[in-house]
Amino acid sequence: VFCEVTVTALDAPGLRGATVAIEDRSRDEETEQMRRDFVANVSHELRTPLTALMGFIETLRGPARNDPAARSRFLDIMEREAGRMNRLVADLLSLSRVEQDERRRPAQAVDLGGLLRGVVATLTPAAAAAGVRLELAGTGTTAAVPGDADQLVQVFHNLIENALKYGAGGSVVTVTLAHLAHEPVLRGPAWSVSVADRGEGIDPQHLPRLTERFYRVDTHRSREQGGTGLGLAIVKHIVNRHRGRLRIESTRGQGSRFTVILPEKIGRI
Ligand code: ADP
Repeated sequence: VFCEVTVTALDAPGLRGATVAIEDRSRDEETEQMRRDFVANVSHELRTPLTALMGFIETLRGPARNDPAARSRFLDIMEREAGRMNRLVADLLSLSRVEQDERRRPAQAVDLGGLLRGVVATLTPAAAAAGVRLELAGTGTTAAVPGDADQLVQVFHNLIENALKYGAGGSVVTVTLAHLAHEPVLRGPAWSVSVADRGEGIDPQHLPRLTERFYRVDTHRSREQGGTGLGLAIVKHIVNRHRGRLRIESTRGQGSRFTVILPEKIGRI
């Protein structure tokens, strides 16, 4: 516990003594530490591609100037590094926007079935390229929730993209929409959307930390796949804003299942 103690002397005519104020500042200290860590992480994440870009610019000016094959190879790498910076900045902006919105409850009426069909259609070419079959189940009925459609698209996009990245090639990723008549934690009817892969799975000790910003099980693997380490942090904030729940289950070697549970809209869409 971090406490701030303030002692004020009372020194007026006919009055002697002092007041002691003890204030628990552990929370402030924790927030400040998190902010410092975040700035350090962002700087590090930006510096890695920047250093690579600067190195290649030097090489293109010098040794590779008259070597067309090397130049074209280096330009490809530079494009990839610039793309990484671009994704990082886009994710940072998303995260900051989502955090700002977190207190305002989203009020649009969103049909989850239609929304999921759209996200799956967008990601089907990426799934085919990764050699993964992307299946969608349970979207036959109207599933209405109060929500922010763009943010919910981002949630399912991030989860399915992860399943494609970390799921094993040649296997299946299944997205399932289901109705829950009474969700005990939300204490009412809800819709659940689960994204399940049959990939490498995640060791249990990582599960509680996965939604922290920049937390990765395997940093090299994440970077190689073009990850920013912010996808699940964004998911968590959006789900919180919707007063929903995110559940993560995983078995090493067998795959993972990410389930988003959203309270049902009362009334008609
Ligand atoms: P990243 O951009 O690194 O993918 P995320 O925040 O989306 O960042 O995910 C954090 C980490 O969680 C990933 O780096 C990866 O280690 C792990 N992870 C996420 N989804 C899966 C999955 N479906 N299977 C295995 N590991 C996963």
